[in-house]
Amino acid sequence: MNTIVERFNKINSNITSLNLKNSVKIVAVSKTFSYDHIKPLVDYGHSHFGENRVQEALVKWSDIKKNSSHLKLHLIGKLQSNKAKDAVKLFDFIHSLDNQKLADALAKYQSKLNKRLKYFIQVNIGNEIQKSGIPVNEIDAFYNYCVKEINLEIEGLMVIPPNDGNHKKYFERLSQLNRSLALKELSMGMSADYIDAVKLGATFVRIGSSIFGSRS
Ligand SMILES: *Cc1c(COP(=O)(O)O)cnc(C)c1O
Repeated sequence: MNTIVERFNKINSNITSLNLKNSVKIVAVSKTFSYDHIKPLVDYGHSHFGENRVQEALVKWSDIKKNSSHLKLHLIGKLQSNKAKDAVKLFDFIHSLDNQKLADALAKYQSKLNKRLKYFIQVNIGNEIQKSGIPVNEIDAFYNYCVKEINLEIEGLMVIPPNDGNHKKYFERLSQLNRSLALKELSMGMSADYIDAVKLGATFVRIGSSIFGSRS
């Protein structure tokens, strides 16, 4: 069996063997890799793939997606509102919804293109200056705006926790916030910490290097 498929299966069985209540989907993060490298996992039948740049994803996936309707593409990286139109065209999920201007642009192009995506609100859980995301004390207001004012389909919250060794604490906090909004999906966990993330309630994990190898 192909190495990439083997690695994917191992991660899948690591998660399954935890016997958790939450059903977990693996977003295979294929950023920086060419389609040839990713293809074995597509051929294997996996559906969820993640990219962090709109332009790169357009080049890589546009044609392939036209012929494979089961594929679901997730944008996990920072999105500028001037790329909202392209993002709405190509993606099915956006995990990096993090400001009102962007939300407005996405809502506008959704109705123009007659398409509805699913969204995760990115949370700046550690209130880090350099990081994107909605501050914890503004989440309620931003969530209400997205759902009630502009009718976006918010699936859950998303986090990239600070790299300070306390990821479990941040995952727990995000899980609580997600419950307080009665959201059913939760995007957290990457190659290094996905086991803790799913134990603490993640339903979407975003895994790149453990599947596709290290990025140069
Ligand atoms: C690159 C990336 C990942 C995957 O990271 P790995 O450590 O390679 O698993 C997950 N989430 C986001 C937002 C990323 O940019």
